[in-house]
Amino acid sequence: MGFQLERVLEECGALTQGHFLLSSGKHSDRYIEKFHLLRKPAVLEQVCRAMIERMNASSIDVVAGPTTGGILIAAEIARQMGVRAAYAERADDGSLQRAFRRVNYFEPEDRVLVVDDIMTTGGSVRETIKALEKHPVELAAVMVMVDRSNGAIDLGTPYSALAEMDVPAWDPRECPLCAEKTPLIKPGTTNVGVG
Ligand SMILES: [Zn+2]
Repeated sequence: MGFQLERVLEECGALTQGHFLLSSGKHSDRYIEKFHLLRKPAVLEQVCRAMIERMNASSIDVVAGPTTGGILIAAEIARQMGVRAAYAERADDGSLQRAFRRVNYFEPEDRVLVVDDIMTTGGSVRETIKALEKHPVELAAVMVMVDRSNGAIDLGTPYSALAEMDVPAWDPRECPLCAEKTPLIKPGTTNVGVG
C-alpha cells in the first residue's frame, strides 16, 4: 500500500467534507485548506518524502516553487534531496508574471525540478516555468502534490502528481447540496478562531 495523500490530508484537517462556496463562485462538497498541511512541518515532511519517492527525475540541482505553498514544498524537498531551492515570486513590475527575484538562485546548466502544492488551473506552475526561461537552466521535471484537473492541464511539458483529486465544482443552480438545503460554508470566513 503506497502513501495515501487523501488520508493524510483528512487527518491533518486539510481536506474537509461539507457544502462550500469556492472562490470561483461554484459550490463543492469537498474543500482543501492547504494551510492545515503547511502549518504542520512534520506532516509536510512526510508528504514531500512521498513526492520524492514518486517522482521520475534524476540529477536535480535546484528545486523551484511558486509562492506561497510551493516555496515551502520546494524548500522541504530540496532539504531532503540535499540540493538548493529557488522561489518564484510575483514580479515587481505590476504584471501577473512570476520571477526569481532578490538573489541569483541559479548556476548555468542547473537541472531544475519545479514543484507546487495544489494544481487547479496550472497558472502558478506555468508562471514558474516561464520565469525559469529567463535563466540558463534546464527544466528537468515538474511535480505537484495534488492535481485537481484530472490530468486536463497542458503545461507544455510532462508533469506528475502525488495524487489526483476530483473535487467537484457545481454551478449553484445545479448544486445537489443546495437542492437539499444544506447550509453553505464560505471557507476562510468561518471556523477560524482561537486554538
Ligand atoms: Zn450548493
